[in-house]
Amino acid sequence: MIEVSKLTKYYNSFLALDKISFSVPKGQILGLLGPNGAGKTTTLRLLTGYLRPSYGEITVDKYRLPGDDIKIKSIIGYLPESVPIYKNMIVYEYLFYVGEIRGISKEKIPERIMDIAKKCKIREIMHKNINELSKGLLQRVGIASVLLHDPEILILDEPTTGLDPNQILEIRDLIKEIGKYKTVILSSHILSEVEATCDRVIIINKGKIVADDSPSQLKNMYMGKTVVNICLHGASTEEIKNIFKDIKEIEQVRFLNQDDLNISLEITLSRDVREKVYKAIKNTPWILMEFYKNKMSLENIFKQITTEN
Ligand code: ATP
Repeated sequence: MIEVSKLTKYYNSFLALDKISFSVPKGQILGLLGPNGAGKTTTLRLLTGYLRPSYGEITVDKYRLPGDDIKIKSIIGYLPESVPIYKNMIVYEYLFYVGEIRGISKEKIPERIMDIAKKCKIREIMHKNINELSKGLLQRVGIASVLLHDPEILILDEPTTGLDPNQILEIRDLIKEIGKYKTVILSSHILSEVEATCDRVIIINKGKIVADDSPSQLKNMYMGKTVVNICLHGASTEEIKNIFKDIKEIEQVRFLNQDDLNISLEITLSRDVREKVYKAIKNTPWILMEFYKNKMSLENIFKQITTEN
């Protein structure tokens, strides 16, 4: 349904997106995941026609970007990170106004609003002033407003940012419900978010795709590995790299913290060879302050993929 080919975006001379390509089949809930500044919002703005690519192309069904911007906007509902909403309006009035802008005939708007309000569970707040709403409800109204014209694709930028844990769960449920009958693309920098809602995750880092799989497949790929956290007293990064260089099972060494006395690091092993690692440390004058096996969580995978060695 959506094909993204070699999409590239420069802001002046800064390369924010570097030839990313992916496709999204109909009905998928796709999560774009990445640390701050990775290029998620840029990707979403390009997909929705709000930004022009420097190179590359997007096709949505038979339409192309750049080119068919207006057509594509009519089949996409896009909610940016900060919900663009008129705060001094009644919810119903606001949705009616959005319906008019979207070109829905005035007779049909009330029925459409009621249908969407039911799906988004905002029927009880139709008479409320928007500035009285909690953030969670505001987000629901925002989602309702971009669904009003019945788009095939829903695009949400960081939909749960700033919400409390209960509101997060409610919005996740709503997204999953919408995902049953629409294609959804959302962005997040929180892994559990994507794991809880998405069928597939694309991890973006520094403008490039660094992983593309289902959350469970990503976990499987890394599950055989062992991550060990170590804290050493009296060592330097160079010396540590040196004593580990002969352990071929070490795939990655990440230095986490360092002060005058201690240095903390995390190493990823292709097999559990903690004994070898311990022996290498034992032969040095350093004091071993901490040594423990870390559970290979998706958080760890994300950290590994998106941080440089
Ligand atoms: P965040 O989670 O912080 O919103 P993001 O993954 O959505 O991050 P983008 O907003 O797409 O990242 O930004 C990608 C890079 O492009 C960042 O380095 C950002 O500073 C830069 N950038 C974004 N918009 C502009 C702009 N209008 N002009 C110049 N640089 C920009």
